[in-house]
Amino acid sequence: MVDGWNQERLKRARVLVVGVGGLGGVSATYLAGAGVGYLRLCDSDKVELSNLNRQMLYTAADIGKPKALLAARRLSAQNPEIEIEAMLDTLTEANAGELASGCDLIVDGLDNHADRLKLNKASFDLKIPYVYGAVREWLGQLSFFNPPKTACLACLMSGELNAPERTPVFGALAAVVGSLQATLALKYLMTGEIPDANTLLIFRADTIVFEKVTFVRRPGCAVCGKAAPSGPRR
Ligand SMILES: [Zn+2]
Repeated sequence: MVDGWNQERLKRARVLVVGVGGLGGVSATYLAGAGVGYLRLCDSDKVELSNLNRQMLYTAADIGKPKALLAARRLSAQNPEIEIEAMLDTLTEANAGELASGCDLIVDGLDNHADRLKLNKASFDLKIPYVYGAVREWLGQLSFFNPPKTACLACLMSGELNAPERTPVFGALAAVVGSLQATLALKYLMTGEIPDANTLLIFRADTIVFEKVTFVRRPGCAVCGKAAPSGPRR
């Protein structure tokens, strides 16, 4: 066991993972393996052939089957000691809060920005921290929003984030970002904090370059603009 590990805190933790594809499938695997006591896996999609370059919970025999149920079954086999709930709901503005209710943390395994903004709003409304991850082509992004202490995803709207949805993804990139999301999630669940709030990590897989960009709350942000100003660190 690595120094500073807190198994008891992980056992008591409750985490919502929305999307169990390239990002969420990886992060949920590490959360289950670490012994997070309760995982709520939400995904309305079925496995497609094009998923199999990066979605390691599934095989060609799973094509056409619901991801959330398959993921719950695989992760329960990986760690029978934890509770896993599979939900096939489509994420909407109306149900985002209900899906996140009762959880300590939200992990983003989504593949489009519109749905991320629904999760971001639920995160802010319920004051549940949100581990953001996104991948497209060779570009990955990662951040941790802890409302109302930090800025939120809607503060970060940029040209890159508004890129066309569902673009192709370099398979191994999703594993890098999903693993980093699990790292942030586990660090937060065990310590109650993460070191670099208000920081966006950008990974360019084509050149193997990591960059960090700090950000602050946008006063005009529709979600969190009325909260107190956020510093680069909390
Ligand atoms: Zn905001």
